[in-house]
Amino acid sequence: MLSGGRPRVDSSVAGSAAGVSAGSAAGVSAGGAAGGSAGSAAGGAAGATVRFAARVFDGVRELVYPRRCPVCDRPVNPAGALICPECEKLLKRTEGPVCRRCGKPLRSPLSVPMHLCHDCRMHPHVYERGCAVFTYHSVAGSLFRFKYKGRQEYGAYFGRCMAEKLAEFAAGPGSRIYRESFAGMPSDGKSTAGQNMARQNMARQNSAKKISPQIPVRGSARPDFLVPVPVSEDRLRKRGYNQALILAREISRLTGIPVREDVLGRVTDTLPMKNMTPEERQNNLKRAFQSFGNDVSLNSIMLIDDIYTTGATIDACAHALSQKGAERVFFMSLAIGEDAEAGY
Ligand SMILES: [Zn+2]
Ligand SMILES: [Zn+2]
Repeated sequence: MLSGGRPRVDSSVAGSAAGVSAGSAAGVSAGGAAGGSAGSAAGGAAGATVRFAARVFDGVRELVYPRRCPVCDRPVNPAGALICPECEKLLKRTEGPVCRRCGKPLRSPLSVPMHLCHDCRMHPHVYERGCAVFTYHSVAGSLFRFKYKGRQEYGAYFGRCMAEKLAEFAAGPGSRIYRESFAGMPSDGKSTAGQNMARQNMARQNSAKKISPQIPVRGSARPDFLVPVPVSEDRLRKRGYNQALILAREISRLTGIPVREDVLGRVTDTLPMKNMTPEERQNNLKRAFQSFGNDVSLNSIMLIDDIYTTGATIDACAHALSQKGAERVFFMSLAIGEDAEAGY
């Protein structure tokens, strides 16, 4: 039943993505982390040489093609950073209180039953839990250029933000870092504003100095691998790259969690879904995704996408992976809408 598909859908992306997107370069995909740790013994001096060469290459490229800021789309100021510090202030993060299922910011958290957003109360999901970094409206223009205008270079900043969010998410609902980030409820009774600011300042300094520390991801919800939501081959041909794969590769590079782009494929293109009801969307998507992995059982998987709207796409992917035995399916998106329910 599932044997007729093609096991790899994004192979043609590798070249274009690696060519443009920051340091995410060569072969982080499919087992990048495994490769990294396996080579540690032999690494040593050779690894240092490669890292030095990469830094020199980055420096030269920066002079020839200055990186553009994801917000203003001009060369980043100061040069070498991933985003202009002033522009970063314009982005709105989804810091708590958020829906405990999809991570959508809640408009009136105290009156929300079960701490679930309107969508999640109306439509049960196949995936277990998920989260997003930014509210959609604050990042919409940037996302459009990232997706449709060839600005793959934004992936370096966006991927870093997602890797940091993943570290918080994976720690699980019982942990302090999770409660502070997702529920807006500091365990020590103090405001989280200071801590959030400190974290953002640190991220800003890191991007400004262009340090690329590994971001450790630990906890009960640490995924075994990252799976980018695939696009159809038709769209891939037209667009030239899959933005979800660019994000997944960058997250992988920073966290060491491998990307698997061979376990999920988009086998049919779907009709435009803007005017469809949730039920119509679900039916439209149900046959669109197939899992090709025979080794996904007992694994916990993090689906990666650029935007989360109703969750229909993520649910269709989660359904396909669950059918192959995937034990837990989470998602993480760069942007998410706000709760449809008006505050009352
Ligand atoms: Zn800027
Ligand atoms: Zn929700």
